[in-house]
Amino acid sequence: MDDCLFCKILKGEIPSDKVFENDHVIGFKDIQPLAKEHYLFIHRNHSKNVNEMSRDDMAQVFDAIKEFTQSNELENNGFRVVSNINQHGCQSVFHTHFHVLGGEQLKGFGS
Ligand code: IMP
Repeated sequence: MDDCLFCKILKGEIPSDKVFENDHVIGFKDIQPLAKEHYLFIHRNHSKNVNEMSRDDMAQVFDAIKEFTQSNELENNGFRVVSNINQHGCQSVFHTHFHVLGGEQLKGFGS
């Protein structure tokens, strides 16, 4: 998609701080981190949000998140995976992405 920010990151047209890369998925640092560690994982195939993403692509993203978190401290201490969808979910970039947050104690949903 020509006008998609994350497609531009995938093509290298916009710089990113990559932490993970394979044939299907990249992970990079969120530009406005909401936790000590905040990464975004995206599939190379464009889809607008989780509801439009194929099951195969979703599995490849979660495999990547698993591989990445198992290779560092996130796996030991725990982390959070979030995907915002459309207006009420506060989605601002319409290329399906999964926020991976951790590196510190996160607040629970009830606190
Ligand atoms: P959303 O609000 O769930 O759609 O998340 C979009 C995320 O993309 C936000 O957390 C932004 O901080 C992040 N973001 C926007 N532009 C860039 C960028 O150029 N590099 C890295 N992260 C970005």
